[in-house]
Amino acid sequence: MAKEELECSFCGRKKPETSLLIAGLDAHICDRCIEQAHGIVIEESKQSGNSDLSAELMLKKPKEIKVFLDEYIIGQEFTKRVMSVAVYNHYKRLLQAPTDDDIEIQKSNIIMVGQTGTGKTLMAKTISKMLNVPLAIVDATVLTEAGYVGEDVESILTRLLQAADYNLEKAQRGIVFIDEIDKIARKSDNPSITRDVSGEGVQQALLKLLEGTVVNVPPKGGRKHPDQKFIEVDTENILFIAGGAFDGIERVITKRMNMQSIGYSSMNTDTIDKDNMLQYITPKDLKDFGLIPEIIGRLPVLTHMDPLDAKTLRAILTEPKNAIIKQYKKLFEMDDIAFTITDGALDYIVEKAIEYKLGARGLRSLCEEILTEAMFDLPSSDETKLNITKAYAEDRLNKSTIKKLKAVS
Ligand code: ADP
Repeated sequence: MAKEELECSFCGRKKPETSLLIAGLDAHICDRCIEQAHGIVIEESKQSGNSDLSAELMLKKPKEIKVFLDEYIIGQEFTKRVMSVAVYNHYKRLLQAPTDDDIEIQKSNIIMVGQTGTGKTLMAKTISKMLNVPLAIVDATVLTEAGYVGEDVESILTRLLQAADYNLEKAQRGIVFIDEIDKIARKSDNPSITRDVSGEGVQQALLKLLEGTVVNVPPKGGRKHPDQKFIEVDTENILFIAGGAFDGIERVITKRMNMQSIGYSSMNTDTIDKDNMLQYITPKDLKDFGLIPEIIGRLPVLTHMDPLDAKTLRAILTEPKNAIIKQYKKLFEMDDIAFTITDGALDYIVEKAIEYKLGARGLRSLCEEILTEAMFDLPSSDETKLNITKAYAEDRLNKSTIKKLKAVS
């Protein structure tokens, strides 16, 4: 065949009309068709989340999961280890080939107890980032029993579908983080609280989701779109992570431990770390706090978050992969400004975060207060350097309204 007569076997373009024509055994393919085919391959592999997921998961053992978590989360060693195992087991269960030995691996849904701002949401976000699975973050306080004003529990799955771009396969392997689970505790000790009943009702409604069931989900959510077609979502392989501060549960733990120490004289109460009572939490304490036993049973992995001390807060500012200070550095770099901050200034920010009881969440708002003026002025100036000292930080914070900062918390 003469050279000019060669053509792409896929689209029929003649060789002169192409930039490149590659010869196969009996056929040719042009550059455009290669690109198109490449697009199809990418699209297909995106669709079949399954193979991606198994490849990803097979590579990561619990220790490797923890290494990933370490890059983003400071401290919280216990929870990181527990999460690594729970997540590994959850996805191992999901990938298991059907066998005839009748052994069915149970779900390892997780419940994290810890003060606000200690990294519970960050933990869930980091896991979902590592696994490349969709994540829905929902607040238990907005959930109500069907028929009450508020959102039905099915709305959780609407969010997950949205996070998965309506790819059902992906959503069914995703993660749901239910924040403020403690707020739906039954408060039977206090009859004056009217949310009592609905709190327990929401727990009952959540049960089905947690244990694995097929739910009819309104894809657009809520009751505003009554005509929409429902999507059937199977929650069997969705990993649920619940989190809550459980304010006052320390008292429940202390009480139980005191009772135990009376019962068992061998128990030495001197070694108890009173500043971190949450580390001794047991499922029974959750029950005494007001979670119904069935919910506790469906959240079999119980873990706690340690309170953040000054050292940890200091590390959070600079060490994680996307640490706050690294982010500001990058922002200034984009304007060719070299950004530095002294140790004194960093210690000062931590000190203020503790003083205002803002925790890790406050670090960001403090940095904003200190840096906003510089971020406003410097891009239109000839400045090429910015060094934040303790004196500069102090000056900026004194000028800002501390009330405003407190409001952020
Ligand atoms: P929670 O869900 O426990 O209330 P978040 O996960 O929302 O807390 O944390 C609040 C902020 O503080 C987030 O921006 C997060 O990046 C940061 N943060 C909290 N704890 C840690 C931690 N242990 N390591 C790194 N960053 C943290």
